[in-house]
Amino acid sequence: MRLTTRTNLAARILMACATNGDRLLRTAEISELCNCSTNHAAHVVQRLHAEGFLTTLRGRTGGIRLARAADQISIGTMFRLFEADIPFAECFDAEHNSCPLTETCRLRSYLERALGAFYHELDMVTLEDLVRGNCGLAKLLAMHPAPPAQCGAELGQGG
Ligand code: SF4
Repeated sequence: MRLTTRTNLAARILMACATNGDRLLRTAEISELCNCSTNHAAHVVQRLHAEGFLTTLRGRTGGIRLARAADQISIGTMFRLFEADIPFAECFDAEHNSCPLTETCRLRSYLERALGAFYHELDMVTLEDLVRGNCGLAKLLAMHPAPPAQCGAELGQGG
């Protein structure tokens, strides 16, 4: 099992925005922070915006930031939305399924249960859980000069 690059990048972008609070991030900054091309970043930002996770401000001083508080953003919800287009197995896609075992396959129900458990775990995680008190992450993603108060001493050591 492997997450799509798009979902992984969406998580990185949300963490970058959460770390930077009200500080608007530009696509080029996101691209650098998240180690991806500007095209790829722009594409995922567009989707996150369309799904209501991000607010975008256009113009020379524009950029993106979270559309709601980090503790109101469910990682499970985001994963479901971003992974929804890609069926986990062929038989999960009724329209294109050609697996000859579909009618008798027991594996299918176990996969459904395993996937349900996977999302259930992520449903209990918010974006806030990923960034709160994570000074190492703040050190990597914070654009503003002042790091989160609780990380000041740790980040000041340059380690
Ligand atoms: S083998 Fe079973 S789980 Fe795999 S695609 Fe076919 S029906 Fe689905």
